[in-house]
Amino acid sequence: MSRNSESLRRFARVYVRPRAGMFSAVQVMHVLAILLFLVPPMIVRHLIDVAVPARDVGLLAMSAGAVVGVFVVFFFLAAFKEYWGHEVAQSITSRLRNDLYGHFQKLSMSFHDRSKAGGLLSRLVDDINVVQEVTHHGPEAVLLAIVMVSGTTVLMFVLNWKLALAVLAMVPLLAVFVVRVAGRMWEQFREVRKRKESLSDVLEENLSGIQVIKAFGSEDREFEVVAGENTNHYHSRMSVIRYMCRLFPGALFINNLGLAIVVFYGGYLAVAGEISVGTLTAFIFLLGHFLHPIMRLVMMLEHAGRFFASLERFWEYMDIEPDIRDTPEPVMLRRCEGRVQFDNVRFRYDREVILDGVSFTAEPGQMVALVGPSGAGKTTVTRLIPRFYEPFDGRVLIDGHDVRHVALRSLRSHIGMVMQDDFLFSGTVAENIGYALPEATREQIIEVAKMANAAPFVEQMPDGYDTVIGKRGVKLSEGQRQRLSIARALLKNPKILLLDEATSSVDPETERLIQRAMERLRRGRTTFAIAHRLSTIFRADQIFFVDHGRIVENGTHAELLDRDGQYARYFRIQFPSNPAESPAP
Ligand code: ATP
Repeated sequence: MSRNSESLRRFARVYVRPRAGMFSAVQVMHVLAILLFLVPPMIVRHLIDVAVPARDVGLLAMSAGAVVGVFVVFFFLAAFKEYWGHEVAQSITSRLRNDLYGHFQKLSMSFHDRSKAGGLLSRLVDDINVVQEVTHHGPEAVLLAIVMVSGTTVLMFVLNWKLALAVLAMVPLLAVFVVRVAGRMWEQFREVRKRKESLSDVLEENLSGIQVIKAFGSEDREFEVVAGENTNHYHSRMSVIRYMCRLFPGALFINNLGLAIVVFYGGYLAVAGEISVGTLTAFIFLLGHFLHPIMRLVMMLEHAGRFFASLERFWEYMDIEPDIRDTPEPVMLRRCEGRVQFDNVRFRYDREVILDGVSFTAEPGQMVALVGPSGAGKTTVTRLIPRFYEPFDGRVLIDGHDVRHVALRSLRSHIGMVMQDDFLFSGTVAENIGYALPEATREQIIEVAKMANAAPFVEQMPDGYDTVIGKRGVKLSEGQRQRLSIARALLKNPKILLLDEATSSVDPETERLIQRAMERLRRGRTTFAIAHRLSTIFRADQIFFVDHGRIVENGTHAELLDRDGQYARYFRIQFPSNPAESPAP
C-alpha cells in the first residue's frame, strides 16, 4: 500500500499538479452536479404535500420550472466537468506517453535487446490507457459514492429518522454483496486477460509462421492449438458472465428490498400520519441513489488495481538510467577524418565475453573487411563504433577521441550503416531515402537513387518516388531494399561506413548493380565491411580474421594467403571454385 501511495503521490506531483487548477475545478463541478440530484425528490415532495392540496396552478408551474432549472444547471455543470475532466486526463496521459517513449528512445540497445517490442508497446498503449481511465473516472467514482450516499442519507434522516434507519439497513447488505461478488468477478477478469494474451500470442506466432506451417503440413495440429486456446478463453469469459448475471440482478434485488421496506413501513408511517405522502414519495425517489454510486465505486476498484500496477511499471521504466548517454561536457565532433581505433577492447552482452582484447587502427578512407566464422563477433565490432554498446574494458576512438566523450548525436552523424535487414519505414520511397537528411530536395533524392542503382526500379513503380512501400505498399525484393538502403546511406554522406553484406544470393545482374552501388558508397570513407563477397575481400586495405572474439590474423588478402593460416583455410572453403588467389586488379 505504501508503495502504491508513494507511486500515486509522485504521479500527482509530476503530472496532476501542473493541471491542479482545472483538475480541482472539475471535482467541484462534479460535487455540485451530484448535489443537484438531491433536489428533484424534494420538489416532488413539495408538489404532493403543498401544491396539489392547495390546487395552486402557480405552484405547480413553479415546481415544473424548478425541475427544468435544476436540469439546466446540471446540464452546464455536467458538460463542463465531462469536457474538462476528459481534457485533463487526456493531456496528462499524452504527457505520460511522450515521456515514456522519449525515455525508451534514450535507453541503450542492451535494454532493447532484453525487452520485447510487444511488451514496450503494451506499456505505451494499454498501461497508459488504464492510467487515463482512472485519472478521470477514479476521483469521479469516489466522489459520487461519498457525496451521493452521504447526501441521500442525511436527507433521509432530515425527512424521517425512523424510516431512514429502516431503509439504510439494506445499504450494508448491498455493499457486502456487491463487494463479494465483484471481487470474485475481478479474479476471473484477470484470468480472462491471461487467456486473451496467450490466445493472441499463439495467433500471432501462427500467422507469422504460416509459411512453415504450410510447408510442414501441420495446419491441423496448429489449428488444434489455437482452438484449444480459444476454448480456454471462452470458458474464462463465461465464468465472468456468470458472475455478472448474479451481480447486477442481485444488487437490484437488494436495493428493491429497500423499496419493500419503504412501501410497507413508510406506508404504515404515512397511514399513522407520522409522515406525509410527499415524504413517502421522496423516500422512494431517494432510494434509487444508492445503487449506482456503489456499483460505480466497485467497478472502479477493479481499475484501481490495474492502475497501480500500470503506474508502478511506468515508474520502474522511467527510473532506469540510460547507461549510454552524453557526458556532462561532450566533445562535438564537427568534422570527422574517419580514423577508427580499437584499443584492447573487451566486451560482453551478458556474461560471456564476446570481444576479448581487440586492437586495430583503420586509417581515414581505408576499407576493412571483417571475416570469420559465424558468431565470432564481427557484427559486434561494428556495433561498438556508433556506441550502440560500450566495452567493459579498453577504448574505441574516432579521430583520437574516446567515443564515450563524444556527443552521441555528433558521433552518429558521421557514421552510416547498410545492414542486411535494414529497416524501411512504411512511407514513400522518397521519404525512406530522405530519412537520412530530412531537408534533402527531390533532386538530391533522385541523384542518390541513381548512384545506388535504385532509380530504374523506382521509376517503374506505380507512383515512382511517391510509391508507398512497407506495410500497405508494394513489396520490395531483397536486392531492391538493399539499394534503397544504400541510397539512404549515400544521402547521409558519412565519413565512416558500416556494411553488412547480404549473404543471400541475388541474380548476377542485381549483384552487379549492388556491387557498383556499394563501390560508389565506399569511396572516400573509412569502411568496415562484414564481408561475404570476394570482391570486397580482394579490395580491402586490411582484412581482420575474427575468431572467438579476437582478431587472430590481420593483413591484406595476399599477405594472409602467404601466411597460410586460418584465413587461407577459410578462404579456400568459402570460395573453393576461385582459382585466383591473388588480389583482383
Ligand atoms: P554472423 O557472421 O553469424 O553474423 P558475427 O561474427 O557477426 O556472426 P556477432 O553477431 O557479433 O557475430 O555475435 C557474437 C556473439 O554475440 C554470438 O555468440 C551472439 O550469439 C552474441 N550476440 C550477438 N548479439 C547479441 C545480443 N544483442 N545480445 C546477446 N548476445 C548477442
